[in-house]
Amino acid sequence: MIEYDRNHIWHPYTSMTSPPCAYPVASAQGVRLRLSDGRELIDGMSSWWCAIHGYNHPVLNAAVEKQLNAVAHVMFGGLTHEPAVELAKKLIGMTSDPLQHVFFSDSGSVSIEVAIKMALQYWFNTGKTGKSRLLTIRGGYHGDTFGAMAVTDPVSGMHTMFKGVLPQHLFAARPESRFGEPVSEKDVNGIRSLLERHHREIAAIILEPIVQGAGGMWFYSAEYLAAVREMCREFDVLLILDEVATGFGRTGKLFGYEHAEISPDILCIGKAMTGGYLTMAATLTTEEVSAGISANDGALMHGPTFMANPLAAAVAVASIDLLLEGPWQQRVAAMEEQMRGELRAITNHPMVRDVRVLGAIGVVETHQPVPANELQNQFVEHGVWIRPFGNLIYLMPPYVIESTDLSQLTAAIGPALDLI
Ligand SMILES: *Cc1c(COP(=O)(O)O)cnc(C)c1O
Repeated sequence: MIEYDRNHIWHPYTSMTSPPCAYPVASAQGVRLRLSDGRELIDGMSSWWCAIHGYNHPVLNAAVEKQLNAVAHVMFGGLTHEPAVELAKKLIGMTSDPLQHVFFSDSGSVSIEVAIKMALQYWFNTGKTGKSRLLTIRGGYHGDTFGAMAVTDPVSGMHTMFKGVLPQHLFAARPESRFGEPVSEKDVNGIRSLLERHHREIAAIILEPIVQGAGGMWFYSAEYLAAVREMCREFDVLLILDEVATGFGRTGKLFGYEHAEISPDILCIGKAMTGGYLTMAATLTTEEVSAGISANDGALMHGPTFMANPLAAAVAVASIDLLLEGPWQQRVAAMEEQMRGELRAITNHPMVRDVRVLGAIGVVETHQPVPANELQNQFVEHGVWIRPFGNLIYLMPPYVIESTDLSQLTAAIGPALDLI
């Protein structure tokens, strides 16, 4: 099986000619992945921010089974169903009040494409046809489709070879002001000067709120986000927040924008929405934007085949109930405190440049890029699943992790650094 996989199947961002080894997972339970040779790994990744309740959860399994026996999938053109309506109600209920309309899609990247279309179509239909560019900050990651790539960091964004065919958007510097600190004038002026020069051609600013994920795991000042919100109003530009990674409690708030007490015009969510069970994402917007899009009876020009898939919607409803009815806030706060305490020990390691923790995210940044595959193998030897990239070794375990298991994750990082 491993041989066939290696010879025929692409994994994310890998080569087909010199692929690194992929570990075969036979099953998973709670926070443990079981490999086919019987070894168990404590999961420090939540399968890329998704599996917030852990694996093989009886409540989520039951939700999928129940829906499976009703209908697994049906087209969303001209038809609707209870899981989609229930999920829309929950999303509208749990996000900020102005967000009242939902578009379901099948992945985070597509939710970004839809957000961009919404913004462009809004300005087009309201007569401001010149507003067709986007403004963002460096260090962002918004997905792998072409519209999303074009607003992802051009250097760290893993897409440099496509630069020539992407629309040229505007990039401000990554905010230097850290989370928990006031915002510097320099950071605000960086984005303000671009707005002053280009606002007539800018449709929207797109950002990951508070935490930039795959573009560098950087936590920035909530005051910066609040200032961006204000400037969007001032310059007549929409604010798109990409909460695909930060949504559903990961930063200690249900949504990252709550740290800044603001509300976006367009919101993208995905990843943890189904508790990591099935692929689904959503783009939400306000009454005003949706009315603008539909001025002159304009339809929103998007409609994926698997839009609002009933199985995914049903498990998303169950996952959100599980989250909101449980003590997620205390758990995430406890994880934050524990990671902060336990990772402090490696702050002084000569390899380490910075250690930062926010909510259920712990990050160790090294001075130099780490040998990711060697470290990953080392972690597997230690019984933990941690997948570094670039100069980052980071943890974002399921919220249900026990403190002894979390200690095993944090304790594995120091010895791995010693080996480099
Ligand atoms: C993962 C991610 C995406 C893309 O989501 P996919 O489901 O992989 O297409 C977009 N934005 C952010 C912030 C992400 O972390």
